[in-house]
Amino acid sequence: MSNKRVYLFHEGNAKMRDLLGGKGANLAEMTNIGLPVPPGFTITTECCNYYSKHGKFPEGLMDDVREALAAVEKDMGKKLGDPENPLLVSVRSGAKFSMPGMMDTVLNLGLNDQTADALIRLTGNERFVWDAYRRFVMMFSDIVLSGQYPDLKKEKFEHIFDALKEKVGAKQDTDVDAAGLKELVGQFKEYFRKVTGQDFPSDPMKQLELAIEAVFKSWNNERAVIYRNREKISHDLGTAVNVQTMVFGNMGDDSGTGVAFTRDPATGENRIYGEFLMNAQGEDVVAGVRTPETIDQLAEHNPEIYQQFVEIAKKLEQHYRDMQDIEFTIEKGRLFILQCRAGKRTPQAHIEIAVDHVNEGLITKEEAVLRVPPEVPGLMLLPSLDPDFVKRNKPTVLAKGLNAGPGGAVGKVAIGSAAALRMAEAGDDVILVGRETTPDDLGGMLASRGVLTATGGKTSHAALVARQYGIPTVCGCSALRIDEAARTISADGVVLKEGEYISIDGTNGLVYLGQVPTKMPEVSGKFATFMEWADSFRTMGVRANADTPEHAAEAVELGATGIGLCRTEHMFMGDRVPMVQAMILAEDEAAREEALSKLLPLQREDFVGIFKAMKGYPVTVRLIDPPLHEFLPSLEELLVETTEMRVKGETGPAYEEKMKLLNKVKELHEFNPMLGLRGCRLSIYFPGIVRMQVAAIIGAACEVKKAGLDVHPEIMIPLVGIVTELTHIKEQLEQVAQETMKAEGIEVDYKFGTMIEIPRAALTADEIAQEAAFFSFGTNDLTQMAYGLSRDDAGKFLPLYIEKRIIPVDPTESLDVKGVGRLMQICVEDARKVNPGIKLGICGEHGGDPDSVKFCYKLGLDYVSCSPKRIPVARLAAAQAALEKDGGSARDK
Ligand code: PEP
Ligand code: MG
Repeated sequence: MSNKRVYLFHEGNAKMRDLLGGKGANLAEMTNIGLPVPPGFTITTECCNYYSKHGKFPEGLMDDVREALAAVEKDMGKKLGDPENPLLVSVRSGAKFSMPGMMDTVLNLGLNDQTADALIRLTGNERFVWDAYRRFVMMFSDIVLSGQYPDLKKEKFEHIFDALKEKVGAKQDTDVDAAGLKELVGQFKEYFRKVTGQDFPSDPMKQLELAIEAVFKSWNNERAVIYRNREKISHDLGTAVNVQTMVFGNMGDDSGTGVAFTRDPATGENRIYGEFLMNAQGEDVVAGVRTPETIDQLAEHNPEIYQQFVEIAKKLEQHYRDMQDIEFTIEKGRLFILQCRAGKRTPQAHIEIAVDHVNEGLITKEEAVLRVPPEVPGLMLLPSLDPDFVKRNKPTVLAKGLNAGPGGAVGKVAIGSAAALRMAEAGDDVILVGRETTPDDLGGMLASRGVLTATGGKTSHAALVARQYGIPTVCGCSALRIDEAARTISADGVVLKEGEYISIDGTNGLVYLGQVPTKMPEVSGKFATFMEWADSFRTMGVRANADTPEHAAEAVELGATGIGLCRTEHMFMGDRVPMVQAMILAEDEAAREEALSKLLPLQREDFVGIFKAMKGYPVTVRLIDPPLHEFLPSLEELLVETTEMRVKGETGPAYEEKMKLLNKVKELHEFNPMLGLRGCRLSIYFPGIVRMQVAAIIGAACEVKKAGLDVHPEIMIPLVGIVTELTHIKEQLEQVAQETMKAEGIEVDYKFGTMIEIPRAALTADEIAQEAAFFSFGTNDLTQMAYGLSRDDAGKFLPLYIEKRIIPVDPTESLDVKGVGRLMQICVEDARKVNPGIKLGICGEHGGDPDSVKFCYKLGLDYVSCSPKRIPVARLAAAQAALEKDGGSARDK
């Protein structure tokens, strides 16, 4: 741990985010560029980590705090706890990466009966002081002590306040006068004494120490841990603590506070966008208790301050070369900047701002490509409510609120996060409906299609989070009433039960009754420009996992330059099932051949469609993989049916037929089918199926080539673990390919290759690569087998593993670099040694996960393959990987 543990703002700078956190580093930077920042100091993240490890402060930390405080006191000409001219401070968390609302903040620290009296004397504003005092007692109790005393939670104090408001006949907080607030402080302190058996701490130094400790602790609170897991932020970074002079926006009508963005965070438009409230403190804006005014209305209240703010906003954006989110306070006509950080924004705004910043010469194309999170292009493909449907059918508008997060969503009403989680788990699309959005709702929000709240402004923390994840959100829908006990919501006399459908339009803030169909947005000009820039830096190919001509066409549209995985078994579903069953149930070769010959023209037609859609790009077709019983009815169902038939005495030919099926199902039954007769094993056992498939693939390729189109089929044999499995099958299939081309009278360019899905295959790549023109990593199976877990059932315990931090991320979602990645690395090195020209790709789900894509780039794979909707994500991640290769990383988490 470094010797220096506490930094005055002017001692730090923007580069010190590891040590001072994002907020602390920015406060330092802003101080150094001459902005009006209230003075203060930052306690380093190392101290938080020390605290997390040892459960206590590093030796002498409070001495360093006292020393820094003395410097601030000197600067301000005020002293913490001074009965004549007291200093009040805020104590805020601030990690390296912004975690909005996830950790704790204490404001107005330093208040006690003496300092309150002094402040009243100094300001002549009794109401303001009692207001600050009551806020402080509530916040301090909630944040610092409610872990130990749950009855000190904020809601308990709010109930006391509600009772008082009722008593004095006040509607809003602002209607309560100084005497009322003074009485409230007394009630709060009395309540504190009742709950804890002790007096509310009145020593400001003790208050400070406890608040610092609470912020350290909040690094590991539940919502912060969920947020970091989701954002893949390391748990060992720790948070810094910023102690800063309080300035007050609630000192009268010449004071105010607000939050503003240097560009519109919803659309990216180049205009200052934000909200403020006169005579209020920060949390009033964020909590949405009073409806804020828009930032341009500030010009009406105070044109000079507005002008000063606009200039500072421009200066900050130019200085940081990115859109900024700025918190400001006006104290008695004087503007203070409390903090700034890169602003959260919608996917659309990400693209808009990045492209505009390049066009304005503020950043380079490389920086733009590195700056946009790789998930963004995927979010750009979010649906909106179909405008034509709305125009034509005029669905009933239930209510209107603020357009807090764009996009359209339709789902069943779920009241509160717990219901949303439960209903989503049961497979429903849900809209989370709540009185307000709080950071605690993160889990419920992520499980929902959309979010609807009765209160809360557009800059409320959870609304920011919703936008970041592209969850369509309507906030501040004041007509909405929620009855949690009756499980109903209502607006304008219309009552809906939980579970009934609504549709929300987060782009214009409308809530509709019933189901409005959603529609994908047009991918417009700046998005295409941005993706072109990304592609210009990208060196690794991006292919699609697609099984139908429609998916193939969509994939090409979204930028795929090939199919990396066509799962042919998907072509055996639907109305073809009886033909497949006939083939499985065939009693002799002749009957099987007959069944297969019926499937052949259909399969061939499928491939013709796909090859045409792919316009000459390579198409990797995987031969049948799953066990045959997947195409038959379930054993349990057949047992019940045949038993019932027997009981009823229905033992005629229909029964005989069912029994035949039952016996075949029993014969094919496996205890662990994922490790059973599937992949190439099935092909060895039942070569007829794959022979038919190869005849269909090559036949289709010949047909397409005859039609004058370019075609490059790559035939992939799954689940190989032994080189001789591959040679055994390939020999027969080569023969089929040759015979088919001969019969068609034309030659096509085709390849045989294999999937690497079994650890043994990865470890014997030196043998297998000699027999394969390409490898494709099937990391779904490879992960399953490397971990010895089942991809179907691991969902039961993997979430617990993540929660308990046994593993940082789900390896079925993001590649496990250490284990599975090591197998891949060995495989790549050994394969290239014996077959330098071998084509290498990945087609497991990981091919669309940005971190996994970046790992595949490092391994030197030729391409990644993923579902069509993930293609733009993979393209951007691959571009970033190429730009980051010299060690630089846009988001070095
Ligand atoms: C894989 O195992 O990664 C793969 C792509 O094949 P499937 O998911 O079809 O088993
Ligand atoms: Mg597989």
